[in-house]
Formats: sequence, structure tokens, C-alpha cells
Amino acid sequence: MIAAVKGRHPTPAQSKVAALRSRLRASGLRSTPARLAVLGFLESTSRPVSHADLVEALADKGIDRVTLYRNLTDLTQAGMVRRTDLGDHVWRFESTRSRAGHAEHPHFTCVECGESLCLPEASVRVARGKGVPRSAARAAEIQIRGVCDRCS
Ligand SMILES: [Zn+2]
Ligand SMILES: [Zn+2]
Repeated sequence: MIAAVKGRHPTPAQSKVAALRSRLRASGLRSTPARLAVLGFLESTSRPVSHADLVEALADKGIDRVTLYRNLTDLTQAGMVRRTDLGDHVWRFESTRSRAGHAEHPHFTCVECGESLCLPEASVRVARGKGVPRSAARAAEIQIRGVCDRCS
């Protein structure tokens, strides 16, 4: 049954991989299984993830930590992935194509569970006022700490 359908229309998953492949090549990177897995995962999630998160999430793909780290670095240098330190000295990575990752945006980090979330660009505004630098109104890097909905 499956064989009969094969080769006609690509499944959504196959088209997605094909799209990732061509974007990797367009960014000057070779398309390898590890890169496809890392980029695919980062694009499927709407929060920034650490190297450790990725090691855990991609454990069943047989990609070792060093390969993962190297791929994150390559993708960051190629501009496909953005790297942020949310104040806890842990690099977190997000796709520059994901829902929130295409532009600078604020982040929320839960002080209880450590989970980080991307906030919509316009969700945080710095009010103008005495002692507030003019450029603060369009501050690129805003980090909020608090307790997330699950922990509160
Ligand atoms: Zn939490
Ligand atoms: Zn983000």
C-alpha cells in the first residue's frame, strides 16, 4: 500500500525536509542529517532551547553532544539560528525563521522551573520618562524573570 503511493506526492514531512535542505544550501551549509534534525527541531518549537535541551530532545537520533554543538555553531554563524544568553550564562538557541525568532523580542524565564519563553515583540514596552534613555523604548534585549503559569 505504502509503496504504491511512494514517489508520487511527497508527504508533508518530506516536503518540510526538502525545504530545510534547500535553505541550508542557500546559507552555504551542507545538508547533513544532524543539521536537518537540529534546524527542524528549532523550527518546530516556539521557545529558545539550550544545548542540553537539544541533546535530550534529539537523543533518539544518535547525534552526539559534540556534533550537536558544532552544528549549532555553524547554524548560528550562517544566520539561521540566533543565540541568546537569558541571564543565566546558558546559551539558548532559536531559529530565526520560527514564529518569534525572526526579530529581536523579549524573553520570559521562570525562576522556579527555569523554562524560557519567547514573548511577542510588542508585548513589552518601555515607557518614556525622566532617566530613561531614548533608545530604551525600542530595546532589543528585554529579559523578564518571574513565575510561569504552570509553576504559579
Ligand atoms: Zn515554571
Ligand atoms: Zn525567543
